[in-house]
Amino acid sequence: MTTDLRATLKPARLFIDGQWTDALSGAAFKTINPATEETITEVAEAGAEDVDRAVQAARRAFTSGPWAKMPPSERGRILWKIGDLIEANLQEMARLETLDQGKTITDSSRVDVPMAADCFRYFAGWTTKIEGETIPVRGGSLNYTLREPIGVIGSITPWNFPILMAAWKVAPALAAGNTVVLKPAQQTPLTALFLAELAHEAGLPPGVLNVIPGRGTVAGSALVQHPLVGKIAFTGSTEVGRDIMRRGSDTLKRLTLELGGKSPNVVFADADLDQAIRGASNGIFFNKGEVCTAGSRLFLEDALHDAFVDRLQAHLAKLTQGDPLDPKTRIGPQVSEAQMKQVLSYVDKGKAEGARLVCGGERPAGRGYFVRPTIFTGVRNDMTLAREEIFGPVLAVVRFKELEEVLAAANDTPYGLAAGVWTKDIKKAHRTARLLQAGTVWINTYGLYDNAMPFGGLKQSGYGRELGRQGLLEYTQTKSVWVDLA
Ligand code: NAP
Ligand code: MG
Repeated sequence: MTTDLRATLKPARLFIDGQWTDALSGAAFKTINPATEETITEVAEAGAEDVDRAVQAARRAFTSGPWAKMPPSERGRILWKIGDLIEANLQEMARLETLDQGKTITDSSRVDVPMAADCFRYFAGWTTKIEGETIPVRGGSLNYTLREPIGVIGSITPWNFPILMAAWKVAPALAAGNTVVLKPAQQTPLTALFLAELAHEAGLPPGVLNVIPGRGTVAGSALVQHPLVGKIAFTGSTEVGRDIMRRGSDTLKRLTLELGGKSPNVVFADADLDQAIRGASNGIFFNKGEVCTAGSRLFLEDALHDAFVDRLQAHLAKLTQGDPLDPKTRIGPQVSEAQMKQVLSYVDKGKAEGARLVCGGERPAGRGYFVRPTIFTGVRNDMTLAREEIFGPVLAVVRFKELEEVLAAANDTPYGLAAGVWTKDIKKAHRTARLLQAGTVWINTYGLYDNAMPFGGLKQSGYGRELGRQGLLEYTQTKSVWVDLA
């Protein structure tokens, strides 16, 4: 295993105020390669006192220093350069992501890292386009608005798309003129540290981006409670989202929360079968099911149910599972041992509740935290398999007969992150899209993203939007200015 990647060695420390530094306590934790169960490297572990150092640095960078005075076009130039540097280091960053996360090298080099680079470029273009308004108030006065940055942003990211989620949070926050303290997930801290290095190289002034790996319950929590942090941008579980709301309430934190999902993928009998099979498979098995928008509940209309399941299974048999660094591999290991065990425990629950295991459901022999791609049929919408977010390669197939029936079942969940619809009937497709309670609906496709598209949840999948113009505005606040003209 190669461990001489510059980002695994040099920066496996905290990045605060433009400097690599150890935790004040000297603590460190191991990050593991889930495909081999070997330690990749040790990483400094931030405590509350390190969070304070990082927040103080970010606050100084916000109120004084070059960032506070920088013209928007110059901010844009630096963000663009970060995108260029990510692209220039694509292979190395993708390899690091695959080592740390277990996602395939094909995905990390074709999806995660290029999209992260593009995210910085997309938001680079916004720096010069953040405008206020002139408000038509009563005579004798002028009123206009300023769109101002919030200040220090605390970004807390999950382990399923480490560099991409970091980009989604850091790029718009910086574009709007804020400074950032980023706490990546414990399982996957390495590419966020690489990002810190590249941002520094791109000319980002000290303190503007600080990256502090550490525990959620220690470093994450300290960030949420810090009085100098103006906003928390979080992606992760609904449970932790609730905790962040509670702890953030003392200082009235602004929040955007991108939480879990149990997304319905609805296939009507008149769908293009080949397309729908690929879409259903990709919907749940992309990134081994560790996707917040995973189409984990597959609703199949009665007339095509049996044939669809057979063909889906045949399609699955062609997807190679194994070493994620091998370009031929389509499905890697789960991110961690704990996650693998959790996924397998859901398989046991599914069996115990009477769903039919069609394929998968076990850990293959050998090293690595792999779980075979799993399909359950005969799932009722009230079973655990259809209610809880599994975050693994486990598909729950539910049979339906009527449009009204499937809509009711699809919406019968506390979540509302995403949904898919497959049909050749254009009216049915758009009608269904309106009636599905989800922040994103895909018609005859699944899992498409673009940095220009607002993304986020309804119901307990969270609130606020990331990406696009709306995502940018979430990192600003409006000031109204009155001028007496009389
Ligand atoms: P998680 O606990 O929600 O972790 C997400 C991030 O929040 C991590 O950086 C985590 O740090 C941090 N965190 C944890 N507790 C915190 C707290 N009390 N205050 C502030 N920050 C805190 O997610 P997980 O444990 O990695 O995964 C558990 C489940 O969450 C998954 O099985 C899945 O259902 C869901 N999930 C959803 C998404 C999504 O994209 N919506 C992503 C990942 C996971 P640590 O690394 O130290 O825990
Ligand atoms: Mg790891």
